Amino acid sequence: MNMTTLTPARTAIDLDLLRDLLVGDAIGPDDEGWDEVRLAWNLAVDQRPAAVVLPESAADVAATVAFAREHALRVAPQGTGHGAAALGSLDDTILLKTERMRGVTIDPETRTARVEAGTIWIEVVEAAAEHGLAALAGSSPDVGVVGYTLGGGLSWLARKHGIGANHVSAIEVVTASGDLVRTDWANEPDLFWALRGGGGSFGVVTAIELELLPIEEVYAGILWYPVDRAAEVLKAWRAWTDDLPDELTSVGRILQFPPIPEIPEPVRGQSFVVVQAIWLGEHAEGDRLLEPLRALGPVLDTVGPTPVSELWRLHMDPEQPVPAVGDGGMLDDVDDHLIDLFVEHVVGAPILSAEIRQLGGAVARRSSQHGAIDAWEAPFITYAVGMAPTPEHGAAVHAAVAALRERIAPWESPHTYLNFAEGRRSAATLFSSASYHRLRRIKAIVDPTDTIRSNHPVPGAG
Ligand SMILES: Cc1cc2nc3c(=O)[nH]c(=O)nc-3n(C[C@H](O)[C@H](O)[C@H](O)COP(=O)(O)OP(=O)(O)OC[C@H]3O[C@@H](n4cnc5c(N)ncnc54)[C@H](O)[C@@H]3O)c2cc1C
Repeated sequence: MNMTTLTPARTAIDLDLLRDLLVGDAIGPDDEGWDEVRLAWNLAVDQRPAAVVLPESAADVAATVAFAREHALRVAPQGTGHGAAALGSLDDTILLKTERMRGVTIDPETRTARVEAGTIWIEVVEAAAEHGLAALAGSSPDVGVVGYTLGGGLSWLARKHGIGANHVSAIEVVTASGDLVRTDWANEPDLFWALRGGGGSFGVVTAIELELLPIEEVYAGILWYPVDRAAEVLKAWRAWTDDLPDELTSVGRILQFPPIPEIPEPVRGQSFVVVQAIWLGEHAEGDRLLEPLRALGPVLDTVGPTPVSELWRLHMDPEQPVPAVGDGGMLDDVDDHLIDLFVEHVVGAPILSAEIRQLGGAVARRSSQHGAIDAWEAPFITYAVGMAPTPEHGAAVHAAVAALRERIAPWESPHTYLNFAEGRRSAATLFSSASYHRLRRIKAIVDPTDTIRSNHPVPGAG
Protein backbone atom coordinates (compact mmCIF):
# COMPACT_ATOMS: atom_id res chain seq x y z
CA MET A 1 0.00 0.00 0.00
CA ASN A 2 1.22 3.48 -0.79
CA MET A 3 1.84 5.10 2.63
CA THR A 4 1.31 8.58 1.28
CA THR A 5 -2.39 7.77 0.85
CA LEU A 6 -2.58 7.36 4.64
CA THR A 7 -1.15 10.77 5.42
CA PRO A 8 -3.89 13.33 6.07
CA ALA A 9 -3.81 16.37 3.79
CA ARG A 10 -2.05 19.34 5.35
CA THR A 11 -2.09 22.97 4.46
CA ALA A 12 1.15 23.72 2.62
CA ILE A 13 2.97 26.55 4.37
CA ASP A 14 5.41 28.80 2.61
CA LEU A 15 8.03 28.52 5.33
CA ASP A 16 10.49 30.75 3.47
CA LEU A 17 7.96 33.56 3.74
CA LEU A 18 7.65 32.94 7.48
CA ARG A 19 11.44 32.64 7.95
CA ASP A 20 11.90 36.06 6.36
CA LEU A 21 9.80 37.52 9.18
CA LEU A 22 11.75 35.88 12.01
CA VAL A 23 15.06 36.15 13.81
CA GLY A 24 14.33 32.66 15.17
CA ASP A 25 13.70 29.50 13.18
CA ALA A 26 10.75 27.96 11.39
CA ILE A 27 11.04 24.24 10.67
CA GLY A 28 8.76 22.12 8.53
CA PRO A 29 8.20 18.36 8.09
CA ASP A 30 10.67 18.18 5.20
CA ASP A 31 13.46 19.97 7.07
CA GLU A 32 16.43 18.42 8.80
CA GLY A 33 15.89 18.01 12.53
CA TRP A 34 12.10 17.83 12.19
CA ASP A 35 11.67 14.73 14.35
CA GLU A 36 13.74 16.28 17.12
CA VAL A 37 12.17 19.73 17.06
CA ARG A 38 8.61 18.41 17.23
CA LEU A 39 9.28 16.44 20.43
CA ALA A 40 7.43 17.41 23.59
CA TRP A 41 8.89 16.98 27.11
CA ASN A 42 6.44 14.11 27.37
CA LEU A 43 8.07 11.80 24.85
CA ALA A 44 4.96 9.62 24.64
CA VAL A 45 3.16 12.39 22.74
CA ASP A 46 3.63 12.26 18.96
CA GLN A 47 3.28 15.92 17.93
CA ARG A 48 2.68 16.46 14.21
CA PRO A 49 2.10 20.18 13.67
CA ALA A 50 2.16 21.93 10.30
CA ALA A 51 5.42 23.64 11.35
CA VAL A 52 7.45 24.43 14.46
CA VAL A 53 8.57 27.98 15.18
CA LEU A 54 11.34 28.73 17.68
CA PRO A 55 10.96 32.45 18.38
CA GLU A 56 13.83 34.48 19.82
CA SER A 57 11.70 37.41 20.95
CA ALA A 58 8.23 38.85 21.41
CA ALA A 59 8.58 40.35 17.92
CA ASP A 60 9.06 36.83 16.50
CA VAL A 61 5.94 35.69 18.36
CA ALA A 62 3.91 38.60 16.99
CA ALA A 63 5.14 37.91 13.44
CA THR A 64 4.22 34.22 13.76
CA VAL A 65 0.72 34.94 15.04
CA ALA A 66 0.12 37.51 12.28
CA PHE A 67 1.40 35.02 9.66
CA ALA A 68 -0.85 32.28 11.03
CA ARG A 69 -3.92 34.46 10.86
CA GLU A 70 -3.15 35.56 7.35
CA HIS A 71 -2.82 31.93 6.23
CA ALA A 72 -5.80 30.54 8.18
CA LEU A 73 -3.50 28.57 10.48
CA ARG A 74 -3.61 28.25 14.24
CA VAL A 75 -0.87 28.72 16.82
CA ALA A 76 -0.26 26.42 19.78
CA PRO A 77 2.18 27.98 22.26
CA GLN A 78 4.35 25.46 24.09
CA GLY A 79 6.96 26.06 26.80
CA THR A 80 8.24 22.54 27.46
CA GLY A 81 5.49 20.12 26.44
CA HIS A 82 4.82 18.84 29.97
CA GLY A 83 1.15 19.38 29.21
CA ALA A 84 1.29 18.15 25.61
CA ALA A 85 -0.83 15.02 26.14
CA ALA A 86 -4.06 17.03 26.15
CA LEU A 87 -3.27 19.03 23.00
CA GLY A 88 -4.75 16.65 20.42
CA SER A 89 -4.32 17.01 16.66
CA LEU A 90 -2.01 19.81 15.53
CA ASP A 91 -3.13 19.78 11.89
CA ASP A 92 -3.03 23.27 10.37
CA THR A 93 -1.33 24.48 13.54
CA ILE A 94 2.05 26.10 14.08
CA LEU A 95 3.65 24.78 17.25
CA LEU A 96 5.29 27.85 18.78
CA LYS A 97 7.97 26.56 21.14
CA THR A 98 9.22 29.31 23.43
CA GLU A 99 12.26 27.40 24.72
CA ARG A 100 14.75 30.01 23.45
CA MET A 101 12.98 32.88 25.21
CA ARG A 102 14.68 32.42 28.57
CA GLY A 103 15.51 34.89 31.31
CA VAL A 104 14.73 35.83 34.90
CA THR A 105 15.14 39.27 36.45
CA ILE A 106 14.60 39.53 40.19
CA ASP A 107 13.67 42.82 41.85
CA PRO A 108 14.40 42.24 45.54
CA GLU A 109 12.80 45.57 46.51
CA THR A 110 9.37 44.80 45.09
CA ARG A 111 9.92 41.03 45.59
CA THR A 112 8.99 40.26 42.02
CA ALA A 113 10.47 38.22 39.21
CA ARG A 114 10.10 39.05 35.51
CA VAL A 115 10.26 35.77 33.68
CA GLU A 116 10.43 35.21 29.93
CA ALA A 117 8.10 32.78 28.21
CA GLY A 118 10.37 29.74 27.87
CA THR A 119 11.84 29.83 31.38
CA ILE A 120 11.59 26.70 33.54
CA TRP A 121 10.97 26.68 37.29
CA ILE A 122 14.46 25.76 38.49
CA GLU A 123 15.80 28.94 36.84
CA VAL A 124 13.39 31.13 38.82
CA VAL A 125 13.80 29.18 42.07
CA GLU A 126 17.58 29.53 42.01
CA ALA A 127 17.55 33.20 40.97
CA ALA A 128 15.01 34.06 43.70
CA ALA A 129 16.95 32.11 46.36
CA GLU A 130 19.99 34.35 45.82
CA HIS A 131 17.86 37.13 47.34
CA GLY A 132 16.36 35.00 50.12
CA LEU A 133 13.10 34.74 48.20
CA ALA A 134 10.85 31.87 47.16
CA ALA A 135 8.61 31.39 44.13
CA LEU A 136 5.36 29.44 44.12
CA ALA A 137 6.97 26.70 42.04
CA GLY A 138 5.50 23.28 41.41
CA SER A 139 7.04 19.93 42.19
CA SER A 140 9.13 19.64 39.04
CA PRO A 141 12.31 21.62 38.23
CA ASP A 142 11.73 21.78 34.49
CA VAL A 143 8.02 22.54 34.16
CA GLY A 144 7.51 25.82 32.29
CA VAL A 145 6.71 28.81 34.49
CA VAL A 146 4.21 30.27 32.04
CA GLY A 147 2.19 27.10 31.26
CA TYR A 148 2.07 26.17 34.96
CA THR A 149 0.98 29.64 36.05
CA LEU A 150 -1.63 30.19 33.31
CA GLY A 151 -3.25 26.91 34.35
CA GLY A 152 -3.31 27.73 38.08
CA GLY A 153 -0.04 26.64 39.69
CA LEU A 154 -0.27 24.30 42.68
CA SER A 155 2.94 24.62 44.72
CA TRP A 156 4.01 23.10 48.03
CA LEU A 157 3.22 26.47 49.61
CA ALA A 158 -0.31 26.76 48.18
CA ARG A 159 -2.29 25.87 51.31
CA LYS A 160 -0.66 28.84 53.01
CA HIS A 161 -0.24 31.25 50.10
CA GLY A 162 -2.73 30.24 47.38
CA ILE A 163 -2.13 29.25 43.77
CA GLY A 164 0.58 30.78 41.59
CA ALA A 165 -1.87 32.43 39.17
CA ASN A 166 -3.12 34.60 42.03
CA HIS A 167 0.42 35.90 42.68
CA VAL A 168 0.99 37.43 39.25
CA SER A 169 1.44 41.18 38.91
CA ALA A 170 1.63 41.57 35.11
CA ILE A 171 1.58 39.51 31.93
CA GLU A 172 2.96 40.51 28.54
CA VAL A 173 1.04 38.80 25.77
CA VAL A 174 0.76 38.74 21.99
CA THR A 175 -2.93 38.62 21.25
CA ALA A 176 -4.50 36.88 18.26
CA SER A 177 -4.45 40.20 16.41
CA GLY A 178 -0.63 40.12 16.59
CA ASP A 179 -0.36 43.01 19.08
CA LEU A 180 1.96 42.84 22.08
CA VAL A 181 0.15 44.15 25.17
CA ARG A 182 1.06 44.39 28.81
CA THR A 183 -1.84 43.31 30.98
CA ASP A 184 -2.09 44.13 34.67
CA TRP A 185 -4.61 45.54 37.12
CA ALA A 186 -4.87 48.79 35.13
CA ASN A 187 -4.30 47.65 31.51
CA GLU A 188 -6.61 45.14 29.88
CA PRO A 189 -7.88 43.94 33.27
CA ASP A 190 -10.29 41.39 31.74
CA LEU A 191 -7.54 39.73 29.75
CA PHE A 192 -5.26 39.86 32.81
CA TRP A 193 -7.98 38.11 34.82
CA ALA A 194 -8.47 35.41 32.13
CA LEU A 195 -4.76 34.66 31.80
CA ARG A 196 -4.45 34.11 35.55
CA GLY A 197 -5.83 30.58 35.66
CA GLY A 198 -7.80 30.35 32.42
CA GLY A 199 -5.03 28.52 30.56
CA GLY A 200 -3.41 29.25 27.22
CA SER A 201 -6.45 30.15 25.08
CA PHE A 202 -6.13 33.92 25.24
CA GLY A 203 -2.84 34.82 23.55
CA VAL A 204 0.84 33.92 23.51
CA VAL A 205 2.48 35.06 26.72
CA THR A 206 5.95 36.46 26.14
CA ALA A 207 6.81 37.35 29.76
CA ILE A 208 5.20 37.20 33.19
CA GLU A 209 5.80 39.03 36.44
CA LEU A 210 5.46 36.97 39.61
CA GLU A 211 5.30 37.95 43.26
CA LEU A 212 7.94 36.26 45.43
CA LEU A 213 7.84 35.41 49.12
CA PRO A 214 10.49 35.99 51.79
CA ILE A 215 11.01 32.30 52.61
CA GLU A 216 14.45 30.67 52.68
CA GLU A 217 13.91 27.43 54.53
CA VAL A 218 11.10 24.99 55.18
CA TYR A 219 10.83 21.81 57.23
CA ALA A 220 10.14 19.06 54.75
CA GLY A 221 10.81 15.51 53.71
CA ILE A 222 9.39 12.05 53.23
CA LEU A 223 8.27 9.29 55.56
CA TRP A 224 8.73 5.95 53.77
CA TYR A 225 6.84 2.75 54.64
CA PRO A 226 6.65 -0.69 52.97
CA VAL A 227 4.01 -0.81 50.25
CA ASP A 228 2.20 -3.71 51.93
CA ARG A 229 1.16 -1.16 54.58
CA ALA A 230 -0.33 1.14 51.93
CA ALA A 231 -3.96 1.03 53.08
CA GLU A 232 -3.04 1.38 56.77
CA VAL A 233 -0.63 4.29 56.19
CA LEU A 234 -2.89 6.16 53.77
CA LYS A 235 -5.87 5.83 56.14
CA ALA A 236 -3.77 7.11 59.05
CA TRP A 237 -2.47 9.97 56.85
CA ARG A 238 -6.01 10.87 55.79
CA ALA A 239 -7.28 10.97 59.38
CA TRP A 240 -4.24 13.06 60.36
CA THR A 241 -4.99 15.72 57.68
CA ASP A 242 -8.13 16.81 59.55
CA ASP A 243 -7.61 20.17 61.27
CA LEU A 244 -4.01 20.69 60.16
CA PRO A 245 -2.81 24.30 59.95
CA ASP A 246 -2.48 25.84 56.47
CA GLU A 247 1.28 25.90 57.02
CA LEU A 248 1.37 22.12 56.64
CA THR A 249 0.98 20.54 53.22
CA SER A 250 1.15 16.81 52.67
CA VAL A 251 0.77 14.09 50.09
CA GLY A 252 -0.10 10.42 50.55
CA ARG A 253 1.48 8.47 47.72
CA ILE A 254 2.24 5.00 46.41
CA LEU A 255 5.55 4.70 44.52
CA GLN A 256 6.44 1.64 42.45
CA PHE A 257 9.88 2.19 40.99
CA PRO A 258 10.64 0.16 37.86
CA PRO A 259 13.90 -1.85 37.76
CA ILE A 260 15.60 0.50 35.26
CA PRO A 261 19.05 2.16 35.45
CA GLU A 262 17.53 5.70 35.59
CA ILE A 263 16.19 4.90 39.10
CA PRO A 264 18.88 5.11 41.84
CA GLU A 265 20.03 1.81 43.34
CA PRO A 266 18.51 1.94 46.85
CA VAL A 267 14.92 2.17 45.55
CA ARG A 268 15.29 0.66 42.06
CA GLY A 269 12.59 -1.98 41.54
CA GLN A 270 11.12 -1.35 45.03
CA SER A 271 7.66 -0.14 46.05
CA PHE A 272 6.64 2.10 48.96
CA VAL A 273 3.83 4.05 50.44
CA VAL A 274 5.08 7.48 51.46
CA VAL A 275 3.89 10.66 53.10
CA GLN A 276 5.57 13.84 51.86
CA ALA A 277 5.24 16.77 54.23
CA ILE A 278 6.15 20.44 54.00
CA TRP A 279 5.88 22.57 57.13
CA LEU A 280 6.29 26.35 57.17
CA GLY A 281 7.10 26.94 60.82
CA GLU A 282 9.25 26.12 63.84
CA HIS A 283 10.94 22.72 63.64
CA ALA A 284 9.75 21.64 67.08
CA GLU A 285 6.14 22.35 66.16
CA GLY A 286 6.62 20.47 62.90
CA ASP A 287 7.93 17.48 64.85
CA ARG A 288 4.94 17.65 67.18
CA LEU A 289 2.51 17.68 64.25
CA LEU A 290 4.29 14.79 62.50
CA GLU A 291 4.40 12.58 65.60
CA PRO A 292 1.32 10.42 64.70
CA LEU A 293 2.89 9.54 61.35
CA ARG A 294 6.29 8.85 62.88
CA ALA A 295 4.60 6.61 65.44
CA LEU A 296 3.65 4.32 62.54
CA GLY A 297 7.35 3.45 62.24
CA PRO A 298 8.59 4.59 58.83
CA VAL A 299 11.54 2.62 57.43
CA LEU A 300 13.10 5.94 56.42
CA ASP A 301 12.39 9.49 57.62
CA THR A 302 13.98 12.37 55.69
CA VAL A 303 11.95 15.22 57.20
CA GLY A 304 14.23 18.06 58.26
CA PRO A 305 15.30 21.62 57.53
CA THR A 306 15.32 22.09 53.75
CA PRO A 307 16.32 25.17 51.73
CA VAL A 308 13.28 26.27 49.79
CA SER A 309 15.48 26.15 46.66
CA GLU A 310 15.83 22.37 47.18
CA LEU A 311 12.10 21.66 47.51
CA TRP A 312 11.96 20.61 43.86
CA ARG A 313 13.70 17.37 44.87
CA LEU A 314 10.91 16.34 47.25
CA HIS A 315 8.57 14.80 44.70
CA MET A 316 11.38 13.03 42.79
CA ASP A 317 9.98 14.19 39.44
CA PRO A 318 12.07 13.35 36.37
CA GLU A 319 14.67 15.99 35.58
CA GLN A 320 14.65 15.33 31.84
CA PRO A 321 12.04 14.48 29.19
CA VAL A 322 10.39 11.08 29.66
CA PRO A 323 7.55 9.16 28.01
CA ALA A 324 4.66 9.15 30.45
CA VAL A 325 0.92 8.63 30.59
CA GLY A 326 -1.05 10.03 33.51
CA ASP A 327 -4.23 11.75 34.58
CA GLY A 328 -5.74 13.31 37.64
CA GLY A 329 -8.80 14.85 39.19
CA MET A 330 -10.10 16.50 42.32
CA LEU A 331 -11.76 14.56 45.13
CA ASP A 332 -14.72 15.82 47.14
CA ASP A 333 -13.79 13.45 49.95
CA VAL A 334 -11.25 10.78 50.82
CA ASP A 335 -12.50 8.04 53.14
CA ASP A 336 -11.35 4.54 54.06
CA HIS A 337 -13.42 2.95 51.30
CA LEU A 338 -11.81 5.14 48.64
CA ILE A 339 -8.37 4.33 50.04
CA ASP A 340 -9.05 0.58 49.84
CA LEU A 341 -10.06 0.95 46.19
CA PHE A 342 -7.10 3.25 45.51
CA VAL A 343 -4.63 0.71 46.91
CA GLU A 344 -6.32 -2.20 45.17
CA HIS A 345 -6.08 -0.49 41.76
CA VAL A 346 -2.57 0.91 42.13
CA VAL A 347 -0.45 -1.72 43.85
CA GLY A 348 0.82 -4.12 41.20
CA ALA A 349 -0.62 -2.03 38.33
CA PRO A 350 1.76 -0.42 35.79
CA ILE A 351 1.56 2.85 37.71
CA LEU A 352 4.80 4.43 38.92
CA SER A 353 3.22 7.02 41.18
CA ALA A 354 -0.30 7.55 42.47
CA GLU A 355 -0.83 10.38 44.89
CA ILE A 356 -3.46 12.21 46.88
CA ARG A 357 -2.54 15.79 47.88
CA GLN A 358 -4.39 17.78 50.47
CA LEU A 359 -5.87 21.06 49.22
CA GLY A 360 -7.86 23.46 51.43
CA GLY A 361 -6.39 26.46 53.24
CA ALA A 362 -5.68 29.44 51.00
CA VAL A 363 -6.64 27.63 47.78
CA ALA A 364 -10.18 27.28 49.13
CA ARG A 365 -10.52 30.97 50.06
CA ARG A 366 -12.14 33.45 47.68
CA SER A 367 -10.97 36.97 46.92
CA SER A 368 -12.01 39.69 44.48
CA GLN A 369 -8.30 39.98 43.62
CA HIS A 370 -8.15 36.46 42.22
CA GLY A 371 -8.07 35.53 38.54
CA ALA A 372 -10.09 32.90 36.67
CA ILE A 373 -9.54 30.32 39.42
CA ASP A 374 -11.03 31.96 42.48
CA ALA A 375 -11.10 29.00 44.88
CA TRP A 376 -11.15 25.22 44.85
CA GLU A 377 -13.74 23.66 47.10
CA ALA A 378 -12.49 20.08 46.71
CA PRO A 379 -10.32 19.16 49.72
CA PHE A 380 -8.03 16.73 47.87
CA ILE A 381 -6.53 16.21 44.43
CA THR A 382 -5.22 12.99 42.93
CA TYR A 383 -2.86 12.15 40.09
CA ALA A 384 -1.51 8.84 38.80
CA VAL A 385 1.19 8.28 36.20
CA GLY A 386 3.24 5.48 34.65
CA MET A 387 6.13 5.21 32.22
CA ALA A 388 5.29 4.63 28.55
CA PRO A 389 8.51 3.76 26.68
CA THR A 390 6.48 1.99 23.96
CA PRO A 391 2.89 2.44 22.73
CA GLU A 392 2.06 -0.94 24.34
CA HIS A 393 3.34 0.24 27.72
CA GLY A 394 1.41 3.47 27.18
CA ALA A 395 -1.81 1.57 26.49
CA ALA A 396 -1.32 -0.53 29.63
CA VAL A 397 -0.72 2.55 31.80
CA HIS A 398 -3.66 4.35 30.21
CA ALA A 399 -5.92 1.38 31.01
CA ALA A 400 -4.64 1.16 34.60
CA VAL A 401 -5.08 4.90 35.26
CA ALA A 402 -8.53 4.86 33.62
CA ALA A 403 -9.59 1.85 35.74
CA LEU A 404 -8.42 3.61 38.90
CA ARG A 405 -10.27 6.80 37.99
CA GLU A 406 -13.42 4.90 37.11
CA ARG A 407 -13.35 3.07 40.45
CA ILE A 408 -12.93 6.25 42.49
CA ALA A 409 -15.33 8.25 40.31
CA PRO A 410 -18.01 8.43 43.05
CA TRP A 411 -15.59 10.55 45.11
CA GLU A 412 -14.35 12.66 42.19
CA SER A 413 -15.37 16.28 42.12
CA PRO A 414 -17.21 17.44 38.98
CA HIS A 415 -14.53 20.13 38.90
CA THR A 416 -11.02 19.31 37.62
CA TYR A 417 -7.70 21.15 37.89
CA LEU A 418 -6.60 22.09 34.38
CA ASN A 419 -2.90 21.35 34.98
CA PHE A 420 -3.53 17.86 36.38
CA ALA A 421 -5.94 16.91 33.57
CA GLU A 422 -3.94 15.17 30.88
CA GLY A 423 -6.92 13.90 28.91
CA ARG A 424 -9.24 16.23 27.05
CA ARG A 425 -11.99 17.51 29.37
CA SER A 426 -14.94 19.75 28.77
CA ALA A 427 -13.68 23.25 29.55
CA ALA A 428 -16.83 23.73 31.62
CA THR A 429 -15.44 21.28 34.21
CA LEU A 430 -12.20 23.26 34.64
CA PHE A 431 -13.75 26.41 36.05
CA SER A 432 -16.64 27.60 38.15
CA SER A 433 -19.72 28.34 36.09
CA ALA A 434 -19.30 32.11 36.50
CA SER A 435 -15.60 31.97 35.50
CA TYR A 436 -16.30 29.72 32.54
CA HIS A 437 -18.89 32.08 31.08
CA ARG A 438 -16.70 35.13 31.64
CA LEU A 439 -13.73 33.31 30.02
CA ARG A 440 -15.85 32.45 26.98
CA ARG A 441 -16.90 36.09 26.57
CA ILE A 442 -13.27 37.25 26.81
CA LYS A 443 -12.11 34.59 24.33
CA ALA A 444 -14.74 35.75 21.83
CA ILE A 445 -13.43 39.32 22.09
CA VAL A 446 -9.65 38.69 22.09
CA ASP A 447 -9.55 35.77 19.64
CA PRO A 448 -12.74 35.68 17.54
CA THR A 449 -11.10 33.43 14.90
CA ASP A 450 -9.86 30.95 17.55
CA THR A 451 -6.29 31.28 16.30
CA ILE A 452 -4.62 30.52 19.66
CA ARG A 453 -4.86 26.85 20.65
CA SER A 454 -4.47 25.79 24.25
CA ASN A 455 -4.13 22.20 25.47
CA HIS A 456 -7.39 22.89 27.33
CA PRO A 457 -9.24 25.21 24.95
CA VAL A 458 -11.92 27.62 26.11
CA PRO A 459 -14.42 28.13 23.27
CA GLY A 460 -15.48 31.68 22.50
CA ALA A 461 -19.01 32.60 23.53
CA GLY A 462 -21.53 32.25 20.75
C1 LIG B 1 6.42 15.89 36.17
C2 LIG B 1 5.31 16.92 36.30
C3 LIG B 1 5.14 17.59 37.50
C4 LIG B 1 4.14 18.55 37.65
N1 LIG B 1 3.96 19.17 38.85
C5 LIG B 1 2.99 20.10 38.97
C6 LIG B 1 2.78 20.77 40.22
O1 LIG B 1 3.45 20.51 41.21
N2 LIG B 1 1.80 21.70 40.29
C7 LIG B 1 1.05 22.04 39.20
O2 LIG B 1 0.19 22.91 39.32
N3 LIG B 1 1.21 21.42 38.01
C8 LIG B 1 2.16 20.47 37.89
N4 LIG B 1 2.32 19.83 36.69
C9 LIG B 1 1.44 20.16 35.58
C10 LIG B 1 2.01 21.34 34.79
O3 LIG B 1 1.85 22.52 35.54
C11 LIG B 1 1.25 21.47 33.48
O4 LIG B 1 1.52 20.34 32.68
C12 LIG B 1 1.64 22.76 32.74
O5 LIG B 1 0.74 22.98 31.69
C13 LIG B 1 3.04 22.66 32.21
O6 LIG B 1 3.43 23.86 31.61
P1 LIG B 1 4.58 23.78 30.51
O7 LIG B 1 4.71 25.12 29.92
O8 LIG B 1 5.77 23.13 31.10
O9 LIG B 1 3.93 22.76 29.49
P2 LIG B 1 3.42 23.00 27.98
O10 LIG B 1 2.90 21.68 27.54
O11 LIG B 1 4.53 23.61 27.22
O12 LIG B 1 2.28 24.03 28.13
C14 LIG B 1 1.00 23.63 28.55
C15 LIG B 1 0.00 24.63 28.01
O13 LIG B 1 0.25 25.90 28.60
C16 LIG B 1 -0.04 26.90 27.66
N5 LIG B 1 1.18 27.69 27.41
C17 LIG B 1 2.46 27.35 27.61
N6 LIG B 1 3.25 28.40 27.29
C18 LIG B 1 2.45 29.39 26.87
C19 LIG B 1 2.66 30.71 26.42
N7 LIG B 1 3.88 31.25 26.31
N8 LIG B 1 1.59 31.46 26.09
C20 LIG B 1 0.33 30.96 26.18
N9 LIG B 1 0.08 29.71 26.60
C21 LIG B 1 1.13 28.95 26.95
C22 LIG B 1 -0.50 26.23 26.38
O14 LIG B 1 -1.91 26.17 26.37
C23 LIG B 1 0.08 24.84 26.52
O15 LIG B 1 -0.65 23.86 25.80
C24 LIG B 1 3.30 18.85 36.54
C25 LIG B 1 3.47 18.17 35.33
C26 LIG B 1 4.46 17.21 35.20
C27 LIG B 1 4.60 16.48 33.91
